[in-house]
Amino acid sequence: MIPVSHALFLSLSRNDCHRIRTAVATAYPAEGCGLLAGVTEGTACWRVTRVVPTRNLLTQRDRFEVDPAARFALMRDVRGGSERLIGHYHSHPDGPACPSATDRAMAFEPELIWVIVAVANGRAETIKAYRLGGPTIHPVTIITPPERSRRFQGSHDEGATR
Ligand SMILES: [Zn+2]
Repeated sequence: MIPVSHALFLSLSRNDCHRIRTAVATAYPAEGCGLLAGVTEGTACWRVTRVVPTRNLLTQRDRFEVDPAARFALMRDVRGGSERLIGHYHSHPDGPACPSATDRAMAFEPELIWVIVAVANGRAETIKAYRLGGPTIHPVTIITPPERSRRFQGSHDEGATR
């Protein structure tokens, strides 16, 4: 099992992607946020197994804070299994899908994957993933698993040289 802090790929099903997009579009014009649980797949990929929309405790623009109660509940839920809390998502209403200065300043957990969704006029658009370690931004490539296959078996593992 690779640490989440080394993930190069995030496997996100169409359904889960749709779930995130719907949640952040609904939260607009506020930032929407939620948690992601997942399992390792291959040597450089984590696959999302659960999308858990949560309250955003903060109401200012460009700010989000996942409800800690939801985080504890999810961590309790996955304890003892192969799933882990692997990250969270939040939206940038009328902003780009890249980490803001605030995001970078708040990135205290390098072991989490950050999924950021640009929402324009209430419509979810670009969705991207990152690992944030202090000032350093590492892009994580989002891949869509084949609909009929239960396992990710792309060529990305071999192609990942870093
Ligand atoms: Zn942000």
